[in-house]
Amino acid sequence: MEKILEVKDLHVTFKTYGGTVQAVRGVDFHLYKGETLAIVGESGCGKSVTSSAIMRLIPSPPGKITAGKIVFKGQDLTRVSERKMRSIRGVDISMIFQDPMTALNPTLTIGTQLIEGLKQHKKISDKDARIRAIEMMELVGIPNPEERMKQYPHQFSGGMRQRIVIAIALICEPELLIADEPTTALDVTIQAQILELFEKIQEVTGVSIILITHDLGVVAKIADRIAVMYAGKIIETGNKREIFYKPQHPYTKGLLNSVPRLDTKGKLQPIDGTPPDLFSPPQGCPFTARCPFAMEVCNKVYPESTAVSDSHRVDCWLQDERAKQLLATMVTN
Ligand code: SF4
Ligand code: MG
Repeated sequence: MEKILEVKDLHVTFKTYGGTVQAVRGVDFHLYKGETLAIVGESGCGKSVTSSAIMRLIPSPPGKITAGKIVFKGQDLTRVSERKMRSIRGVDISMIFQDPMTALNPTLTIGTQLIEGLKQHKKISDKDARIRAIEMMELVGIPNPEERMKQYPHQFSGGMRQRIVIAIALICEPELLIADEPTTALDVTIQAQILELFEKIQEVTGVSIILITHDLGVVAKIADRIAVMYAGKIIETGNKREIFYKPQHPYTKGLLNSVPRLDTKGKLQPIDGTPPDLFSPPQGCPFTARCPFAMEVCNKVYPESTAVSDSHRVDCWLQDERAKQLLATMVTN
């Protein structure tokens, strides 16, 4: 499978009066063409910072990509000029945020906003731009597109506005779409419709999607692969079945346990404790203080990434051969 994006050893910091926050601490992942990768984790784990880094939208200062590579179709985005980046943003890579209202201009009609985005980046006649805008409105499921193009954002419901935002993000036919909590601000029924829309769009356009979310229900619905982030690191990656049915990292297991399920009669089991302070992150495994299996080594040395299968990797000392042997002897005794 062709990789459209490869993020290698990415580090992002933010300077504040209180010190430097190490928001992203050596993140590695890749995205195959046409797939949906979900990056999941609690707020503050670095998932949104990672996606902003791909778009090169980290406010600098105070933010900075201090190390690593973001290779998109063969070029390292951490090294291209701002001018080049402007020609990539919205054209090759598009992003959708949580709140559809702030993404739309309340003073312009929907048609103008759709057409503007297109004309800004592509040489296209007014007539063709209009036709394309109508096509996009149809694709995202807005009835009577010709009429509705003349209306303003406040004349649409929240769900419809998010559909419009998606249409604007896709109008230049990007190859990569980054969606940061795209359904969080919506009602549950509307959420489901928007997720279905993502699936349909992917089928029709072949766009590759990075979905940033804290919601495992969303992940279960549309992700192909999942990367679990904790304290600025990706601690486990795998395909959906592997993560949901064979999670290996105690944090991933905890996340799954904290989701209400039919068989646990909706009982939530939150993970005790809080993530570490990223002003001075621990040297070892950042989950040590909350982990029921923590060993002495965990606190001191960060565990190397171990392959569970070809598609499944985890950063945990429990996967280390030496720890496994130790645990086996403990069990038999
Ligand atoms: Fe727990 Fe140690 Fe694994 Fe971290 S490395 S998750 S502390 S067992
Ligand atoms: Mg976020």
